[in-house]
Amino acid sequence: MNRHVTAEQIFGEVSARMPGVSLPTVYATLDLLEEFGLARRVPSEGGAVVYDPRADDHHHLVCRRCGAIADLDAPVDAPLVAAARDAGFSPDASHVVVRGLCADCAAA
Ligand SMILES: [Zn+2]
Ligand SMILES: [Zn+2]
Repeated sequence: MNRHVTAEQIFGEVSARMPGVSLPTVYATLDLLEEFGLARRVPSEGGAVVYDPRADDHHHLVCRRCGAIADLDAPVDAPLVAAARDAGFSPDASHVVVRGLCADCAAA
């Protein structure tokens, strides 16, 4: 599954099937999934927190016009990690967000 959704979108779908579920419950559940490594947060255009059910290492392409988020499979950039270490930082994992225009927006 390649879906990147906000907590509000998940809440909308869950509450349609399970009336009575609250938004804080959805947030708490997502925090738990993230803690267990079953989901991850992706910073999106506009600041909304987007959740990604794909927990293995991958990067993201974020379109600044339509907000589309796509997975990007590429090796972790070694020079990037080396630069982070040179800055005295100990990176756990690197996650690169490439911003720009998606193919549809670039063609428009
Ligand atoms: Zn776009
Ligand atoms: Zn993803």
